[in-house]
Amino acid sequence: MDLELRDKVVLITGGAKGIGAAIARAVGQEGGMPVIVDRDAEAGEKLVAELRGGGSRCSLVRADLTSVDSCANAVECTAKECGRLDALVNNAGVNDRVGLERGTPEEYVGSLQQNLLHYYNMAHYALPHLERSRGAVLNIASKVAVTGQGGTSGYASAKGAILALTREWAVELLPYGIRVNAVVPAEVMTPLYQQWLESFSNPTEKLTAIVSRIPLGNRMTTSDEIAALSVFLLSSKAAGHITGQHLFVDGGYVHLDRALS
Ligand code: NAP
Repeated sequence: MDLELRDKVVLITGGAKGIGAAIARAVGQEGGMPVIVDRDAEAGEKLVAELRGGGSRCSLVRADLTSVDSCANAVECTAKECGRLDALVNNAGVNDRVGLERGTPEEYVGSLQQNLLHYYNMAHYALPHLERSRGAVLNIASKVAVTGQGGTSGYASAKGAILALTREWAVELLPYGIRVNAVVPAEVMTPLYQQWLESFSNPTEKLTAIVSRIPLGNRMTTSDEIAALSVFLLSSKAAGHITGQHLFVDGGYVHLDRALS
């Protein structure tokens, strides 16, 4: 199916690695133009070289989105370079484990800066462009928003707010025909996830215990599976009547009885 993403400019925060990089590749495969916004310039440049080598048009904006100015600048650079913006994928985030017991009020605010505030800031600055293109917003959330994890208050509250904002923005942006949806991953092997696993004394044992509880196939979700739904949702041809939705791509991890696995 042609998703009609050809020549569409899609800004992807945290697009240099993991889930964001998979979305960038999928946009490129559909003939769209991913704009990767990431603080990891080295990984970003490597991905841009790979995408250009495969014939995709793409670009990289190096930015740490914890500052408001960086968010404004990332949108401005994209609009200047590409002349338009058709979609925003808010994806950058880090499960930084700022908890109630292990954490301070200042670290909690810092965690919201890492995980939440730039979702709003990017949407705010992208809005005039998305209004012109009748574009789409896709927010990457986390199962932690609905299951909790323990010891990660900042990340959990950011991801919960992202689900709420998805619905709120879907309502607010109805008059412009801008669709807003969220994809909710659970267990996806990425550099961030690998780093988290390595914080356990026996990462292999921990991983085996996790995958044994994933109902469908006892396996991790792949970044490509998240990306496949993401490009579908960005396509007004395929998903033109889908808005305000929270879509779980998790092999049944959140909603099916894990005692079955
Ligand atoms: P990842 O492997 O760390 O890739 C994310 C990229 O975003 C990295 O290059 C990272 O740079 C960058 N980034 C993070 N914060 C940034 C900021 N403030 N400004 C600019 N760039 C920033 O992460 P991932 O696992 O793909 O996660 C992507 C999203 O999926 C996150 O929102 C995460 O919460 C969500 N998610 C992931 C999983 C999973 O199982 N992997 C599950 C649920 C939800 P650095 O390396 O420098 O941080």
